[in-house]
Amino acid sequence: MATNIAVDHAPTGLVAAEVTRAEQISPNFVRVTLSGDALASWRHLGYDQWFRIALPVSDGTRFDRLSDRFDMRGYLRYLTLPKATRPVIRSYTVREFRPERLELDVDFLTHGTAGVAGPWAASLPVGAPVGLIDQGCGFTAADAARRVLCAGDESAMPAVLGVLRDLPPDSEGDAVIEVADLDDRQPVHAPAGVNVHWIERENDARPGTAALAALRSFRPRSAADAPTSAESGISDFHAFVAGEQQLASGGRKYLVNELGIPKTQVKFCGYWRQR
Ligand SMILES: Cc1cc2nc3c(=O)[nH]c(=O)nc-3n(C[C@H](O)[C@H](O)[C@H](O)COP(=O)(O)OP(=O)(O)OC[C@H]3O[C@@H](n4cnc5c(N)ncnc54)[C@H](O)[C@@H]3O)c2cc1C
Repeated sequence: MATNIAVDHAPTGLVAAEVTRAEQISPNFVRVTLSGDALASWRHLGYDQWFRIALPVSDGTRFDRLSDRFDMRGYLRYLTLPKATRPVIRSYTVREFRPERLELDVDFLTHGTAGVAGPWAASLPVGAPVGLIDQGCGFTAADAARRVLCAGDESAMPAVLGVLRDLPPDSEGDAVIEVADLDDRQPVHAPAGVNVHWIERENDARPGTAALAALRSFRPRSAADAPTSAESGISDFHAFVAGEQQLASGGRKYLVNELGIPKTQVKFCGYWRQR
């Protein structure tokens, strides 16, 4: 899937944890709380920190033969493991990490019966073992410019809310979050200068289309007010766009090709693909 986010492996390798709570928190989200002593070594980065999660698919699922890294080598090794007993691997975002309790929350969108991770979370799998491989952040503290623009569909809601939570308090800008149901909205902890726009998707609309349209209506204020990037202070602007593939790549194209924002200042990632 299209992205310019570099994968960054922490030395922790594969971290074992167990589901200790699972709760339907809104119409389309289940919050799964993972706990375990191994989380004592978890590298907490904040923002949109993400990880690979190895999920059990049967009672016979084995985690012991997984690699510590999920790079090309780790992936190829994974493919050699017997299908019947290897876990399913998916990518998710740290919603909250509580080091004092060794707890990590993950908000899973339950997008129907297709796939593995969504239905697994919907089954409220308390007691299930999982494995986590930390993959770092897309939007890092180094990207925390004074002006920001974030956009995502609900799969990226945990990531956008994490970025907003961890921005410096004097940040300004806008964030667009598209959801299927406004009841999926969550409390936002963001700098006072960042306006958060929740958009409810029309029934049957392609996910991400409304967020992309809203993103296209924004211009970094200083860029619109000045004719050249040198004068405009574009250097102080960073964007984060994630979610359905067309939202991520369309958002990047608009910001880079049409507005002339340098590529390095636009972090984007296709989180899933509508089939
Ligand atoms: C870096 C990163 C961080 C992510 N963080 C989160 C997170 O915190 N929370 C979260 O919910 N998701 C997150 N995602 C997205 C998640 O990894 C995908 O949605 C994943 O495909 C779900 O796996 P699955 O087994 O449920 O479905 P899959 O087996 O991958 O797909 C099965 C079917 O479901 C459809 N599908 C998959 N995802 C969605 C969706 N979001 N909406 C509608 N239909 C879908 C597919 O098109 C396919 O038809 C993240 C992805 C990345 C890359």
